[in-house]
Amino acid sequence: MTKAGHTGLLVTHLPDLRYLCGFTGSSAALAVTRRGARLFTDGRYTSQAAEEVSGAEVGIVAGSPALAAIEWLRTEPGVHSATFDPSATTVAERGRWLAALPSRLRKTFLSELSEPLVQPLRTIKDAEELAIISDAALIGCRMFEHILGVIRPGIREIDIAAELEYKARQLGAEGMSFETIVASGVRSALPHGRATTALLPRKGFLTLDFGIILNGYSSDMTRTVYLGNPTIKERDTYEAVLEAQESGVDAVRGGARCGDVDEAARCVLRKAGLADAFTHSSGHGVGLEIHEPPRIGAGQDTKLLPGMVITIEPGVYLAGQFGIRIEDMVAVTKTGGKVLTPAPKALIQL
Ligand code: ZN
Ligand code: ZN
Repeated sequence: MTKAGHTGLLVTHLPDLRYLCGFTGSSAALAVTRRGARLFTDGRYTSQAAEEVSGAEVGIVAGSPALAAIEWLRTEPGVHSATFDPSATTVAERGRWLAALPSRLRKTFLSELSEPLVQPLRTIKDAEELAIISDAALIGCRMFEHILGVIRPGIREIDIAAELEYKARQLGAEGMSFETIVASGVRSALPHGRATTALLPRKGFLTLDFGIILNGYSSDMTRTVYLGNPTIKERDTYEAVLEAQESGVDAVRGGARCGDVDEAARCVLRKAGLADAFTHSSGHGVGLEIHEPPRIGAGQDTKLLPGMVITIEPGVYLAGQFGIRIEDMVAVTKTGGKVLTPAPKALIQL
């Protein structure tokens, strides 16, 4: 804050707030000055806040935690403004905050961060965070292993999703990090095909993209398997996606440009004539949020740093035919990338 010239910071984005002080409740605001911090929440969280919060005093309020945080900042000595992250603030919230200020302060007291202040800290995971994320990723691998024994033609996609999610809970997950993707047959050509009541076909690809939450941290992995015997085109396309994925993983290391990692995966698919079928970026950061910086996309200048955790997930989608995606989580180290999701990637036929 000192370096960025801020005297008061208002944090309302819950993952940021959790990262800074440990609070996991669903309603809170954190006020930070150069001298200290105070977390505001409501009466439902009195004992939870006392248990979880470190590095900040706790204030229990009856009304809006954010308004209480702004009011506190306004009366703290040496605080000239409450700086907030506009990308984590709705227009309505900002309106309420402004309306609650005395009119003489409305033009000056609230100020927007020109770039996020907390998010960059979150992208670098410490050893404790890495251990949790790695455990979460390994639970995903065990779920995949389990589901292989369940998959058969004629059962519904949602039954696969239900079984995955039940297994996740049994293995200790707090929840799923996003809606489980189960896309079979022609539906596998939908990059985000949520599980439907469609029946698994006798013959065709099945894409499973799922993740869990463990101690607040997300996991994310994708495997595509085949029911029956693939055609030569289907097998060749799978091999191209796998080669692209491995090429992307191999390009991961501290100091690498995100755009170069994306290109390492993308150029394999381009050479295979599949450039137009790869319609998204190669990956994203994962942590307290399922999608967080950095973005592993074409032309991205951000450099990977040791401690970042990203996904590498190229895919090919041929509308009306089939789709394939393979996704690993990778922890960035000084010299390379450590794959956190060591589930098999060679084409599995069921
Ligand atoms: Zn995914
Ligand atoms: Zn992903």
